[in-house]
Amino acid sequence: FKESLQEIADVAPVTLDHKHVHLHANMNSVMEIDQVLRNGASGVGLFRTEYLYMDRDALPSEDEQFEVYRHAVKQLQGRPIIIRTLDIGGDKKLDYLPLAKEDNPFLGYRAIRISLDRKDLFMIQLKAILRASSYGPVKIMYPMVSSLDEVRRANALLEEAKQELREKGIDFNPHIEVGLTIEVPAAALIADVLASEVNFISIGTNDLVQYVLAVDRMNEAIAHLYEPYHPAVIRLLKHVIDSAKRVGIPVGVCGEMAGDIRALPIWLGLGIEELSISVQTLLQVKHRLLASDASKCKELVERVLACQTSDQIKQLLAVTEAAVE
Ligand code: PEP
Ligand code: MG
Repeated sequence: FKESLQEIADVAPVTLDHKHVHLHANMNSVMEIDQVLRNGASGVGLFRTEYLYMDRDALPSEDEQFEVYRHAVKQLQGRPIIIRTLDIGGDKKLDYLPLAKEDNPFLGYRAIRISLDRKDLFMIQLKAILRASSYGPVKIMYPMVSSLDEVRRANALLEEAKQELREKGIDFNPHIEVGLTIEVPAAALIADVLASEVNFISIGTNDLVQYVLAVDRMNEAIAHLYEPYHPAVIRLLKHVIDSAKRVGIPVGVCGEMAGDIRALPIWLGLGIEELSISVQTLLQVKHRLLASDASKCKELVERVLACQTSDQIKQLLAVTEAAVE
């Protein structure tokens, strides 16, 4: 099956009724770029930069980060790459940047909250990303945003970073696209407000599911409660996607749910045009996409939205899957 999947790596990701869906790859390290290309990804929809900061003794310098980002951009040969700014805290730690012990790290000092607090770290990263943007289609994405104020403050720092580069005569793309992840329920509920301040949004379902359901995604004792197909999650996803569409900006998905075959009819039915998936499952999703009919998925989503429990939803999706096979 794996070998035959490889044959569709270069086939355009289009449904039977001609809906094009960008299939991008999630990437934790530039070492994965070969796989990204081999699996026919149309770009990188999520580059988790925190791995650049982990397992070392000191912060990566601006030059060091720039080299990594530039390398990625060049290897991608014109394909877009969304570089997510540092997302530490929660379960991800840095030895050389001790964070105070917290009772609830997932509700604490993490991601954009750290970047806005530690302007020194954030500016270095923003400048490194900006410099790489003169080599190809780079986009910036802020993680774990929960208010408009945070986006505005991050964007103000981005403008400051641009100004510093300008003064030094260093090249960058002044029109670099900026986006944010929707991972916090508050952000999902005001997705229209946030969307009007950025160029794109991407739904991070891993965290969104954890926060919507109040279920720690790392806690094995309650793993059975971590349910991406909970009706509350599906309703919220619809709300976010509809909000972005009303504002008129692209909306993608970058959590694990984007690569779950069962969820594909939901994405197609809700009108998602970009999925960012780990390279291991990208071709399986494409295989299913090629055999899918988006207009039928629209009808299915109506029925999914009428379900009262996750079991009902999963049952409905299982029946659909069986029909495709
Ligand atoms: C997410 O939360 O869905 C996401 C993509 O971010 P991460 O998995 O890195 O937390
Ligand atoms: Mg996340």
